[in-house]
Amino acid sequence: MQLTAHPLQRVGAYAVAALAGVKDRRRSPESLSAEEIEVARDRMTADVVATAELVDTKAPRSFWLSASYLLWPNSKMNPTNRKSLSIAQRRDQIKQWRECPTSVLAVPCVLCGQAACGFYGKVDIPLAASIEHRNTTVPGHDGMALCVGCLTSFYALPYGCSIRGGKAAGLHSWDDDVLAKMTVRQVLRTQQQAQLASTDASAGAYSREVEALRALRTYEHRIRAGVELYVFSNSNKQQTLDVHSIEQPLAEWLRATLQPATLGTGFRYLIRAHHTPKTAGSVRLAYNAFHRPERLAGTAVSYLARLTDALGAPAPETIELAGLYQSFIREVLDVPQREVDQIVQLGDRIGELLRKHPQRGTLKEFEHVHSEPVRLQAWLKRQATAWTLSHDVSEALVTTEQWRLLFEPGDRVRFHRDLLFVSVLEHLAKTGWLAGTPADRDDQDDTILVEENQ
Ligand SMILES: [Zn+2]
Repeated sequence: MQLTAHPLQRVGAYAVAALAGVKDRRRSPESLSAEEIEVARDRMTADVVATAELVDTKAPRSFWLSASYLLWPNSKMNPTNRKSLSIAQRRDQIKQWRECPTSVLAVPCVLCGQAACGFYGKVDIPLAASIEHRNTTVPGHDGMALCVGCLTSFYALPYGCSIRGGKAAGLHSWDDDVLAKMTVRQVLRTQQQAQLASTDASAGAYSREVEALRALRTYEHRIRAGVELYVFSNSNKQQTLDVHSIEQPLAEWLRATLQPATLGTGFRYLIRAHHTPKTAGSVRLAYNAFHRPERLAGTAVSYLARLTDALGAPAPETIELAGLYQSFIREVLDVPQREVDQIVQLGDRIGELLRKHPQRGTLKEFEHVHSEPVRLQAWLKRQATAWTLSHDVSEALVTTEQWRLLFEPGDRVRFHRDLLFVSVLEHLAKTGWLAGTPADRDDQDDTILVEENQ
């Protein structure tokens, strides 16, 4: 068996390894022996053959029969005349369908180049890449030439996917270690799900994104490539494929931020920041991670602004969230440390100025001017006078570089200005200008991203 350039084949190949009982995670699916692949095939065949006894998809433990309509429509598992067939007939037909092909064709496998064992279409393989690359084949064409290894990978793919709500979702990464760990984890979960008497067919809002974040959370090492969430259905009614990606820097930042060790501090506050009366913080965080990553940091900033506004002082969450914001713009947006330091230095200076007038209105005024660049420029110019009166004249309040970072048009100025705001709050929080207790907001925490028995 080979690992090819096809992400879903790769997920399937690692699922084959898991089904073969390979314990050593560092072992590549390419090292699987023919016997091990046979073990995996037998397990899968047993699962699909067992569906022959079920009356229909409402019967207990009908997970694979239900799933067959979205995975393998028109296959021997779900023929239109299924009801009129005896259990033995169904069994025989399913076995026949899944029998390991012994033929060797004169054409190479389209994915790995080894000798193909047959041509396969929609019945056996899900969408290849996008709606433009449908796996349905034109009449008279035999489909995709596949070898036994690639075909077996596609049969195993569903085990490496979360299947609910009429769709399958597989997590892929070009980092083989990440792919191995996540697929093994998912194979176990899918097998557990298949054992349940009844399976919850519904999928909560963005539950696939939430599950993907949970999976990232349990990975202990640095993630060296991005992760992609493939959500697909091969169903006759609605054939779809959606790919949601997280680039490597964000994937690694989320993994490190979401680690169980840091849970309870910054990450807990990040969930709070995403909380709304209608949506759990974890769900909104997972949505942003996959669909609107630029909003992740902004949500933390506007949360701090709202709290500060309500309290008239920096909230107790400030220091942790400021730390997260800084690491986000450094690691995800690749803002150089030197530039971060420059803005933090200015934030400290502004904090120092504000502390001279520790009234509620002082911070409110700064918040007001911060939200509008022209107002902020005017405010900084006014404060420069106060600054030079109380400091060494040679040391300006705002350096040319700082001014450029904050106001020169570019993709990052918004993040730089938010960093300035957060740094001011952080300075005030560190020097004791604090209000409220975090406990006041415990009701905004949720544990959706935390699972037992990880
Ligand atoms: Zn192949």
